[in-house]
Amino acid sequence: MEVSTLVLARTRAELRDRVAAWRRQGQLIGFVPTMGALHQGHAALVRRARAECDRVVVSIFVNPTQFGPNEDFDRYPRTEDADRALLESLGVDLLFAPPVREIYPPGDSTRVVVGSVAEPMEGERRPGFFTGVATVCTRLFALVSPDRAYFGEKDWQQLLVVRRLVEDLGLPLTIEAVATVREADGLALSSRNAYLSPAERAVAPLLHRCLVEAAEALRAGEPFPPVRERAVQRLVRSGFAAPDYLDLRDEGTLVPLAAARPGARLFIAARLGATRLIDNLAVPLG
Ligand code: AMP
Repeated sequence: MEVSTLVLARTRAELRDRVAAWRRQGQLIGFVPTMGALHQGHAALVRRARAECDRVVVSIFVNPTQFGPNEDFDRYPRTEDADRALLESLGVDLLFAPPVREIYPPGDSTRVVVGSVAEPMEGERRPGFFTGVATVCTRLFALVSPDRAYFGEKDWQQLLVVRRLVEDLGLPLTIEAVATVREADGLALSSRNAYLSPAERAVAPLLHRCLVEAAEALRAGEPFPPVRERAVQRLVRSGFAAPDYLDLRDEGTLVPLAAARPGARLFIAARLGATRLIDNLAVPLG
């Protein structure tokens, strides 16, 4: 018989008690923040944390402050029972799944605003999104006090925003990046893929395929504007809306680039029916 070792904390106080005991014993604490509806992308983060740390804490919190008024907060998938079973099978020590008031107490009025790397792309298309992300990450880091926190490269800009705030606030943890986990056909795993109809699901891998082909053309020396135009036309012909952005940028600063160079990365966000998909890909050196 398997013995369950996953502890569930719903309040800050329960979380703090557990973590404080581990801290007193000098244990290394790894943390994976999520919004739940867990998939193998999340599992990859947890496995890295499990391999590198003495204790692994996962949070499931659908963070209201990072959703815009017309976004999918209410219908965001919530699958806590299945999530708990997965986390238990991965050997997670503690699941923190608080109600909103534990993260945003009555009277809440503090926000963390990151500049520069939070401004283009998602920052432009989703006003307030990164302030919500930065605010919840800062609060979760303060509550969990991890030594390491794990983030997916799928949300590359988010990774940069979190790294920036950790550096700027001098928080005592390191941010670890985990490569994007994809389906066999290239589609990046995402909780929002559950929104796709079967017909949309069949078209969705084109997002990644266009990035791969664009990266190849850039590597071969083609300038970005015609490469971009071809990709946009192909996506639109196949049923995607015109992308919110399809950009070539420096992967550290997010400065726009006109052609491939070391550290160049492609970034895309595009709507397929009602579902907004994002992805990014490094451009290999020629
Ligand atoms: P979310 O639950 O969507 O907020 O994601 C929680 C964490 O999982 C974030 O750090 C994401 O970047 C990461 N993540 C989501 N999808 C993937 C994926 N396909 N591969 C790797 N990491 C992912």
